[in-house]
Order: sequence, then C-alpha cells, then structure tokens
Amino acid sequence: MLYVLSQYKQGHKRLFDYEAEIEAPLLDLLTRFGPQRTHYYPNMPFWRLKSDGFWQLINTENCINLEKPSKEPTSKQLASCQVCDGFDEQTYHYLKKHPLIIDQLAEQILSQYFPESVQDNLINQLDFGLTEFNRQRDPKFRQLVLRAYNYQCAICGFDLRHDAIAIGLEAAHVKWKQHGEPCLVNNGLALCSLHYSAFDMGAMGLDSSLKIKISNGVNGHQMVEKLFWDFEGKNILLPRSKEDYLHDRFIEWHLREVFRK
Ligand SMILES: [Zn+2]
Repeated sequence: MLYVLSQYKQGHKRLFDYEAEIEAPLLDLLTRFGPQRTHYYPNMPFWRLKSDGFWQLINTENCINLEKPSKEPTSKQLASCQVCDGFDEQTYHYLKKHPLIIDQLAEQILSQYFPESVQDNLINQLDFGLTEFNRQRDPKFRQLVLRAYNYQCAICGFDLRHDAIAIGLEAAHVKWKQHGEPCLVNNGLALCSLHYSAFDMGAMGLDSSLKIKISNGVNGHQMVEKLFWDFEGKNILLPRSKEDYLHDRFIEWHLREVFRK
C-alpha cells in the first residue's frame, strides 16, 4: 500500500502491471522491511487487497482456480495473465484531487506498523517526502529506559552530552510498540542513533544471553568493523538494576521477526 501511495504521489496512473511494476519492487521492499521470513510472496498483498472494498484487479479471469476459487494465484500466473491492479476509479480520483490525503494515509500506515527509525528508512526508500511527519512519542518510556541504562548506548557505550542534554541517544522498543506491547522498561534498550537504526532494521540483534549478534549482511570498511563486528558476541552494557533487564520474550520476538541472519 505504501509503495502504491508513493507512486501515486509521483504521478503514476491508476493501475499497476503486476509483472512490470509490482513484483520486483515489492519483493525488494518485503525482503528489506517485512518480517524476517525464509520466502516472500509479493503476489499475496497484491491479490488480497481486492477484498478491502477500494481495490480493483483486472485481467483476473484466467488466473482464478475454478475448482478452488479461494486459492491465490502464484506470481507466475499473475504475470502470464497480465493482471493489473490499483485503487478503484472513485478512490483514485479522490486521492488525485486531495493529494494531502495520500500523505495522511501513508503516515497512518507507517505509525501503525513500523518503529520510527524504520519509518525514516521507508520514507527515504520510497521517496515519499514526508517532511512534517508528526509522531507520537512516549517521553516517560524514553526517560525510564535511558535512566536504566545510565544514559549510554547498551552496545557501544556512546554517551555524548551537550551540557546536561544527551545527544544522539534513543530508547528503542525491542518488541515494536506497533505490535501492541506496553512501553515497559523491560522492553526497552538505550541505543545511540546508529545502533538504534541498525537494531530496528535487523542488522543487529541479541541472543537469549544478551550477547550481540551481527547480521551477515552487514558490510563496510574500517568504521563498520569497529562499530559493528568488534561487538559481535560481546555482552550488552546492562542496567544497574536487575529489575530493568530485558524480558526474554521481547528478545525472542526481535530475533525471530526483525533480525536478519
Ligand atoms: Zn552505540
């Protein structure tokens, strides 16, 4: 949905050809930003949106399984039938007339499903240009987590202050709050901006004994070696109070859903 909205914002016509315009870019987005899975299926969201009441698919006649009409066509079938999709006429023209609604819809989807650092990466990736994106923050959670970790990054110990103000330090939700978790200190991790972004994107994670894991996809030169690989297998810097330690179920969730092996 975000991909289609971003394309509309850049002037795309109403319908998208599955094979030429959806399959490869959506697979790329799912692989990078979707939950951690062995396989990704761009045909699924493309097909399933048809039951949402505002989405239209054309050229579907030949790819519906007459014996099992609920069976979803494969990517190959969608491509060979030249299936196209997009918003229905009425909704599309409404969006064209009210482009701000496109931004509002995108903001709603981003806030509902992704943590802030991933939202930024997605906005850049899709060229969305959402410059005044209002986010809901929980200042209490931030304070609790930063205090628990003594105002330093749990990975690298970064603790820059300008006078009394901490700079470049974030309170990450280990299990994303978009998955309905309360803002508990036991689900929080103080991280510098760099490790915050890498943690939310799955470039790094933690194992059950709180040792740092680095994704095999992480690459770069000297600084990456220093800021990532040198920490592999090391323990994070723990809160002073055991009561503030991360709970296992949050670490397990991050490892299963976010961390890219
Ligand atoms: Zn750090």
